[in-house]
Amino acid sequence: MKLLLQFPEGLKQFAMQHARKYESEGHEVFISATPNFGACDLAIEEAKAIGAEKLIHFGHAEFARVDFPVEYIFHTVDASLDTLPEALPELEKYNTIGLVTTIQHVHQIEEVKAFFEKAGKTVLIGKPYGFAKHNGQILGCDIGSAASLDRKVDCFVYFGGGLFHPLGAVYSTTKPFLAIDPFIRKQMWLDSYRQEHKKRERAKIMRSIEAKRFGILVSTKNGQTNMNLAKVLKKKTELSGCEAAILIANTFDFDYLNNLMEFDAFVNTACPRLTTDDNERLRKPLLSANNLIELLSLRSSSIKEKA
Ligand code: SF4
Repeated sequence: MKLLLQFPEGLKQFAMQHARKYESEGHEVFISATPNFGACDLAIEEAKAIGAEKLIHFGHAEFARVDFPVEYIFHTVDASLDTLPEALPELEKYNTIGLVTTIQHVHQIEEVKAFFEKAGKTVLIGKPYGFAKHNGQILGCDIGSAASLDRKVDCFVYFGGGLFHPLGAVYSTTKPFLAIDPFIRKQMWLDSYRQEHKKRERAKIMRSIEAKRFGILVSTKNGQTNMNLAKVLKKKTELSGCEAAILIANTFDFDYLNNLMEFDAFVNTACPRLTTDDNERLRKPLLSANNLIELLSLRSSSIKEKA
């Protein structure tokens, strides 16, 4: 069978060894070298272009249904739980914990839960909104496993590496949030990020207050495309007396977006993390759909006040 293998950046280092395995089974194998950000970003067009019969996507669970044969290969990691006892003093004043993790450690979540229960805590595991597939699992764009517990818990605990995944959950919850990273053996409260995020969101809206021309971003990635939302936002923007255009790309590169100088602000309908992470290179504000609605309503109330 003709196969295209696709890996997220962290797993590309193992691409050749996987390719060899499939070749030894008699397949004709190709490797996608395009950047990959998740299962929202399947290399289906590449697979079709080379006449592949199947795409094998490593490292992520299914995100959205697609009209092409895709096999998902999980990459689970058995992280050491030795670091959990060091987190207990941090959690002393909290009784009920909401526990979240990533797809790499979702198979360990019951073990982590049992550890905290043995230490006298009540541990809740929430349900994702739908893009993530397992209870307790969070994705950069699906923090349902945390948000669904916000009213029920005293604090949250994230078990896993890095800050990308927990920060999305921090921004969408209100309770203290502890990240336990078993790889660097470190615990860290993330609540200050929540405060900074709120300030940044407010500042972006205020920077756009005089904006007259909006570029609405629509990605063609299989799990990120949202043309319906873009059309609704365009219409709302135009009804408020501004101009808007829908901008299409597979990956939005801020250096190239900066060349679209006629726009005063951009509105994101693609990966929600574009709006919150590392977008300083973009010279104009990048709003979420909610930011835009808030901005239009602020403007309309200030017009009414003046009238
Ligand atoms: S956070 Fe963004 S890149 Fe990650 S899975 Fe969601 S849409 Fe894809």
